[in-house]
Amino acid sequence: AGKTFIRRNLLTILTVIGVVAGCVTGIVIRNIEQKSYSKRMSMYIAFPGDIFLRMLKCLIIPLLMSSVIHAIGSLDLGLSRKIAIRSILYYSATTISAVILGIILVVTIRPGVGGSRMGANETTSYEAGAYSGYINGLGLAPLSMNLFPPNIIQACIEQSQTMLLPPKDETKRNLTKKEDWDFEERYESTTNVLGLVVFSIVFGIGVGRLGSRAKVLLEFFEALSDAMMIITKISPVGVFFLVTAKVLEIESFAALVGRLGLYFITVLLGLFLHGFGSLSIIYFVAVRQLPFRLIGQLSHVCATAFGTASSSATMPITIRALDKMGLDPRVTRFVIPIGATINMDGTALYEAVAAIYIAQLNDISISFGQTVAVLTATAASIGAAGIPQAGLVTMVMVLDTVGLPSKEVINILAVDWLLDRFRTTINVMCDCLGAKLVDILSVGELTPISPADRLKVEAE
Ligand code: ASP
Repeated sequence: AGKTFIRRNLLTILTVIGVVAGCVTGIVIRNIEQKSYSKRMSMYIAFPGDIFLRMLKCLIIPLLMSSVIHAIGSLDLGLSRKIAIRSILYYSATTISAVILGIILVVTIRPGVGGSRMGANETTSYEAGAYSGYINGLGLAPLSMNLFPPNIIQACIEQSQTMLLPPKDETKRNLTKKEDWDFEERYESTTNVLGLVVFSIVFGIGVGRLGSRAKVLLEFFEALSDAMMIITKISPVGVFFLVTAKVLEIESFAALVGRLGLYFITVLLGLFLHGFGSLSIIYFVAVRQLPFRLIGQLSHVCATAFGTASSSATMPITIRALDKMGLDPRVTRFVIPIGATINMDGTALYEAVAAIYIAQLNDISISFGQTVAVLTATAASIGAAGIPQAGLVTMVMVLDTVGLPSKEVINILAVDWLLDRFRTTINVMCDCLGAKLVDILSVGELTPISPADRLKVEAE
């Protein structure tokens, strides 16, 4: 029995081992080499991890489009609508409850009251990659325009809008004074994932209306989407290298731990309570089951989310895991790509906590109205892409709405890369629970897929 358990859960076990071994290896190398480990060595270790991440990222667009088109094209319209309504209800309920939980925690714990702000002579450098290339919108209007890309090839490359980014001037990025830190409005290209989702939905509906002629297209998109899952095989190795490299990159553990103050704990506590509390309650209310076993089965998905800090990049692993658990592939391919793009509870919670934390640091008492404005964190989480630290950038939108200066994000920069990993894990976990929930609710309505297809999934 033990052997079959191991064989069945091999990928799960190996991926979790990958994360733990990555941490340990990183720490061991740091100690052996007494911090003098060469830059070169870190580069060698980061290299395979980066390749893995790039491969995953490369799959995002084709996987997302083929999955959504296949799912929607193979369901009849009435059922698509039902599944869509269920998913959207679930996404809204979970995201809003995450924001509210965040607000309650930050107002109770008050991490920013009496805390030390980023002082004039404290230095911070922001993560490479944090801002490299993404932020969408500063308002809802451009955000909603992006839902309808005028050209899909262009949508794979860019969003049609200017973005707020940190100064181009390298010297201004290693800041000594917060006052130096200023956003610039610039035009930068990023993938318009949300626009691609909308296009795929509409296209899928079109395919569904073709009747018998749809078969060839559906088979094509199904096969395309399944072929992408090949990458899942190397996830334990990829995650191992990503985590090791990150541990080596940390400048000093002491400084990091010093910075993990009450703000960090508040977000982490919020994520934990949301992941195991609120989500479980919502799940229980909907399907009268508790999700803990399910969460256990998803540990390698969570480990990959933690390792990559990207819900979109984790998508192939997520879809594959749910397939293996026997969920209806049409539901999974509907709920997961859309969820990875718009449903980000962890991000929403973090945005709410961070905004109020920043207000507390600045001794600004927030009115009830402003607290309600923090609910824009919901929109900010929808707008954030499923890539590392995207949430930090949409943070600007929340600060704007509440009326706080956007450059204050500097106060949360130092620990953001780490919080990002935790919130991504919750984002992905929430999508998985959503898929399972919608699957359970739709079970009687879905025409069963052919036994041959089921076998195919189980055999893998
Ligand atoms: N990295 C997160 C994700 O991919 C988004 C964020 O920055 O909060 O889900």
